[in-house]
This record gives sequence, C-alpha cells and structure tokens, in this order.
Amino acid sequence: MISTRDVRVGLPKSVYVRMFITVFVLELVVEAFGYQVVGRWVSGHIWESNTAWERVVHVVWMLLISTPILFSWIIRQLRRQRQYLNSLHDKENEFLSLFLHNSNSIIALDANGEIVNMNHATERMLGYSSKEIEQMDRQTATTLIGQEKSHTFFAKALQGEAQEYENTLVCRDGRIIHVIENAVPIYQGDVVTGIYIIAKDITEQREAEQRVWSLAHHDHLTELPNRRLFSDQLDRALARAQEGEGKLAVLFVDLDRFKYINDALGHDVGDDVLRIVAKRMSRCVREGGVVARFGGDEFAVLLPHIEHVTEAEEVAERILRVVQDCIAFDGYEFYLTSSIGIAVYPVSGESSADLLRNADTAMYEAKRRGKNRFQIQMPSLHKHAYERFRLENDLRKALRDDELFLEYQPQVDVTSGTVVSAEALIRWRHPVIGVMPPGEFIPLAEETGLIEQLGEYVLKEACRQIEEWRSLGKHLVPIAVNVSPVEMGNDHFVQRFHSILAYMNVSPQLIAIEITESALMKNERNTLMKLKELKDLGIKIFVDDFGRGYSSLGFLKQFPVDVLKVDEIFVRELDRNYEDASIVSAVITLAHSRRLKVIAEGVEREQQLAVLGQTECDEYQGYFFSPPVSAESFAQRYLQTQEALERS
Ligand code: C2E
Ligand code: MG
Ligand code: MG
Repeated sequence: MISTRDVRVGLPKSVYVRMFITVFVLELVVEAFGYQVVGRWVSGHIWESNTAWERVVHVVWMLLISTPILFSWIIRQLRRQRQYLNSLHDKENEFLSLFLHNSNSIIALDANGEIVNMNHATERMLGYSSKEIEQMDRQTATTLIGQEKSHTFFAKALQGEAQEYENTLVCRDGRIIHVIENAVPIYQGDVVTGIYIIAKDITEQREAEQRVWSLAHHDHLTELPNRRLFSDQLDRALARAQEGEGKLAVLFVDLDRFKYINDALGHDVGDDVLRIVAKRMSRCVREGGVVARFGGDEFAVLLPHIEHVTEAEEVAERILRVVQDCIAFDGYEFYLTSSIGIAVYPVSGESSADLLRNADTAMYEAKRRGKNRFQIQMPSLHKHAYERFRLENDLRKALRDDELFLEYQPQVDVTSGTVVSAEALIRWRHPVIGVMPPGEFIPLAEETGLIEQLGEYVLKEACRQIEEWRSLGKHLVPIAVNVSPVEMGNDHFVQRFHSILAYMNVSPQLIAIEITESALMKNERNTLMKLKELKDLGIKIFVDDFGRGYSSLGFLKQFPVDVLKVDEIFVRELDRNYEDASIVSAVITLAHSRRLKVIAEGVEREQQLAVLGQTECDEYQGYFFSPPVSAESFAQRYLQTQEALERS
C-alpha cells in the first residue's frame, strides 16, 4: 500500500552538490585565467576588477549576493514539497478512510487472485476477521469471493475493464447473501497489478423483492402458485416443448360439491379442507410439476414433460384417489371427490390459452358424466386415435387381468324346444366403461393382432367350462366358439386349436366353430384347407351370419360345413315379410338337400318361431328363448344332470 513515509523531504542531495560545484568551478576559472570581471552599476558607472584582490572581492561579493537568492529558492522548493507531501498524506488518509470505513465490502486481490487486503465491512459482511482469511488456504479463500461465474468477471477486470455483476456469497454461519459487486482494476502506471472487489449486500432488498413477488404469485391460503405464476410456468414449459417437440399436460381439478362444506360448516372449515387437499395434491406430481390454486375449489396442475398421455392420466387417477381419502379434523370427517379435465399439448391445443380452456371444458365434461372422474379433451381426429390406443392398452391388460368372460346363448331345437348346443359369446368387464359387447372391441383386436390371444382365451375358457359342467354331472351340449378370419390366417391355427382341446381334455365333438360367411369368402383356399383339417378332428363347422355375404349355397358346397346360421336380418321380419319368409324357406330347403342343418339367428317373437316351424328350420337362437347368459345360469336353466336325463 502507498505511504507518505516512503517519500523523502527536501531537494535531492545532487541538486545542492551541483550548485556548490558550479559556483566553486566558476571561481576557479576566474582565478586561474585571470579574467577581468566587468560589472555595471545601476547608475551606469562601469566597475572593473583588474587585480587578483579585486577579483577575490568580486567573487565573494557575487557569492554574498547569490547565496540568499539561492537559499530563498531552496526554501521555496522545500515549502512546495512539504505542501505536496501534506496533500499526499491527506489523499492517502482520504483513500484509507474510503477503503477502511466504506460501508460496502472492499477486497483487494493481487494479479493471481489472492486476497491481499480487505476492509472492516467485509469482515462484518462475511463474519470472518482479516486474520482468519490470511490464515486460510488459497482454495477456501477463493470460495469466499464467489462462485466460478464471478471469476470470469475478475479475469476481465484484470484486463483493465471494470465489471459490475450480481453474486452470492456464503458467510461464515452458512448464510447465503446476495451482493452487487464491482470489480475495479488497480493500475500502477500502465500495468494492472490487481483488482478491488467492491460488494454491496443487497440480501434484504432481494428478500423483500422475493416476498413481494411471492405474495403476487402465490395463493395466500394454500401457499400454492396462483393463476399468474401457473400461466408463466405454462408459457415457459410450452416454449420448451415447442423447441424440443415434447409433450406437456394441463389438468384442471375442481372439487365436487365443495360448496356444501362451505355452506354447512363455514368458511374456516372450508379453508382447512382446501389446505389439506392442496397438500395431498402436491404429493401427486413429480419434481418439475406444478400444482396451483386458481381460486375457490379450482386447482390446476402442469406436467411439463410427459412422454405419453397415460402419464397425465396416472396423475389424474392419483389425484382422484387422494381427494377421496377421508379428511378428518376437529371431530369432522369429510369425503370429497373431484372432477378433472386434461388437455395435452399438442393434441388438445397449441397455445396456453387453448390448453387452459380445453382442460376447463374437459373438466365440465367430467362433471357432466357423473363427477369423480377425469376426462381428456381432444379434437375428434386425435380422439379416435387416442381411444384406439387406450383401448388397445386396456385390452392387453384385460387379457392379463381376467377382465374377459363368456356368456352362453342356447341354440334350441325348433320342434322339441330342447337346448341342443350353445354359442359362447365374449364380453369385457372394462374397469371404467363397464361391460362391453364384442362388437366394440373385436375389430380392434383383429387390427392389432390381439385377436389370436383373445381366441385362445375363448377356446380355453369354453373347454374349462365344459370340464366344470362335466364334473358337476351335467349332460353336456356342444359349445360353438366364434373364430375370426384373422385367427384362421395363422398357419398354426389348427394345430393350436387341437393342442388346446387335447390339453384341456375336451372331446372335439363338444366344440363347434362359427365362421362368418364373409370370412369364408376372403381366403378361400387357405380357409378350405384348415376347415377340412378341423373337420377331420371331429369339430363341427357353423357358417355364421349366412345371407349377409351374398354367397350362394353353390359356393358353400366346397366347404365341409355342418350348419348354416341364417342371419338375423332375414329372421327379423320373417313373420311379417313374405319375401324374407320365402328366402329363409328356400335356404332351408337347399341346405337340407345338402344335408346341412339350419339355425335361425335373432328369434325374438313367437310368430317368428311359428314360421320357422312351418319352414322346417332345425334350430333357432334368440332372445325369445334366452339372451346370452352367464355360465352358471346357463347350466342351471338349460343343462340337465346326466342322472335326471337317464331317469326321464
Ligand atoms: P354372432 O356370432 O352373430 O352372435 C350373435 C349375436 O346376436 C350376439 O351378439 C347375440 O347377443 C346377438 N343376439 C342373440 N339373440 C338375439 C336376438 O334375439 N336379437 C338380436 N337383435 N340379437 C341377438 P353379441 O354377443 O353382441 O356378439 C356380436 C358378434 O361378436 C357375434 O355375432 C360374433 O360375430 C362376435 N363375437 C362374439 N364373441 C366372439 C368371440 O369370442 N370371438 C370372435 N372372433 N367373435 C365374437
Ligand atoms: Mg356367432
Ligand atoms: Mg351371427
């Protein structure tokens, strides 16, 4: 550090020496060469020194005259120097007080970045004494003056460019403080020999700003982000998703019938319930997700990165569950439910306004559909694709989790009215939608290839059921299973069919297959071969929905068919429409001529049955006798025990 103690008082010694030598030499020259010194008085009288004595007098005279002048000059110089030194002292003191007593922290670093000096404010701010810092190893001391980022500012300052930036410092007690720092180069001549870091503690200001910001962006009741903060975060997440072509989801959650809690128990209880629900909901989202309260009993959730819509659904399911959990306090117990609307970027909307609006609409749809559920908002195009995807996933799950089951519909002898066989019809007990008829999932199963697993399930289940009935001593009737053309297409179909029968120990006589007329027409040669193999195994072949495919009996001749099932479109108006009756009658006659049996499908009225009797139809199936029923009902109602049969 600069100090006036280092500056010497007075003129340099060389000045005095030189002055003395000059006068002395001058005299010697005058003496030695005997110069005549000529002077002129002010009066104009010329005075000459011709003798040595006169010259000596003259030199002494000159010395006498010049010495005071010289001394006065020297004194003047000395005075000036004293003044200069005093001002330098003052400046140093000024600077020292600026450094030492500055309310901002000032740290001096040398060109290597090592701390060489610091003021009292720094000690106060960081909580370390300068002695402690001196004794610190270099690494620890470096961390005191900020993170990596600030070191780049120091480097720039060392190149002569003053820097201003914000920094955070860690104090001795572990507190993190916010500072605004100036890194100022220290010049000596043209060289930067270090930097001053001047830091102003702005922690309080930042905390106050943070408090204000937090108040403006959070809901005071639940401390969750409010609509404004949610929108900001949604905008940001949307920008990221747009850049990276990712997906995000917005969930709108509304508590069902919350108003009653408020009305019946007062707003204080209502507030507590909201706080509890808010906490529970916050636990339903992973890190990065945002749960916000929009006001009243309305909440919103942002899932900023999702791979697939199902992730949003999982969160929605979790929220539905946690909201439903009992809320108990103050001696009260509440059971709440919620309705959730989901909008997914990009399918449900591309802007935040669209996503929010669509999630809201979906939430109302969820309410309309009976509350305590979630609903996804999607344009119909995507909806179709999505529902297919959902259904496909669900169907896989259904096969795994035993959600499929069979019902049995009797096929009845027209003349005797006894049940001679039954058709096994598949149903799906969907966990959300309820029981679904096959028409709603068989086409999807065919498209996705799941039909093979499904067909296998049907055959195994029918065989298991036959075995069960056998063990109960029931008189068994053949069970017809429907087979899709897609299943038939598989090269191993017959082999697999046969192995299942063998494995389940069921005689092929007890199993028939129903294949639609249109399926027969699709892949004639291949189907023909397989049907022959099945027939050879002893399995009966029924042609389902005959009449819909507009094939002829001539066409069917090539297939090893046992039974024709006349489609219900010809049976529907059989008793009212002469033309239909004639067609059915003609089909029956022709079928009989080829030794085929005929089953009429969809018989709902007695009159239809009467016509079928007249036309000598063999069997019928329909609601008139019985709709498809559970295995248990079927056995109970239509399967006699072997014992009873023998008795009769
Ligand atoms: P399908 O083989 O023609 O089955 C007869 C359909 O007619 C059944 O509909 C049955 O419930 C219905 N039905 C029965 N009696 C009457 C009646 O009196 N009036 C009317 N209007 N309809 C009646 P379901 O169960 O909805 O099955 C529809 C179709 O789904 C079946 O037509 C069959 O093609 C297919 N299916 C059913 N189960 C399976 C299966 O396990 N595998 C395959 N691949 N397809 C199946
Ligand atoms: Mg059928
Ligand atoms: Mg049919």
